[in-house]
Amino acid sequence: MARTLQRMRTCRSCGVPTLHVYDQPSHLLHFFLSLLTLGLWLPIWLLVSVVRRPPACTRCGKKVGSFELW
Ligand SMILES: [Zn+2]
Repeated sequence: MARTLQRMRTCRSCGVPTLHVYDQPSHLLHFFLSLLTLGLWLPIWLLVSVVRRPPACTRCGKKVGSFELW
């Protein structure tokens, strides 16, 4: 239910601009699901839209904004 997007960002771990991937929810699919369920799907759509996973570096695998111990 999500599509993967790519964007160049400077990775803190790698120290250079690298390709990052992140998921974007399919709003069209959620819209039709909301119509089919007569609005019962709206809270799930809202939750999916608000809670997002941070972009991940394709070189080292670390996520932007993720907590690091060292
Ligand atoms: Zn990296």
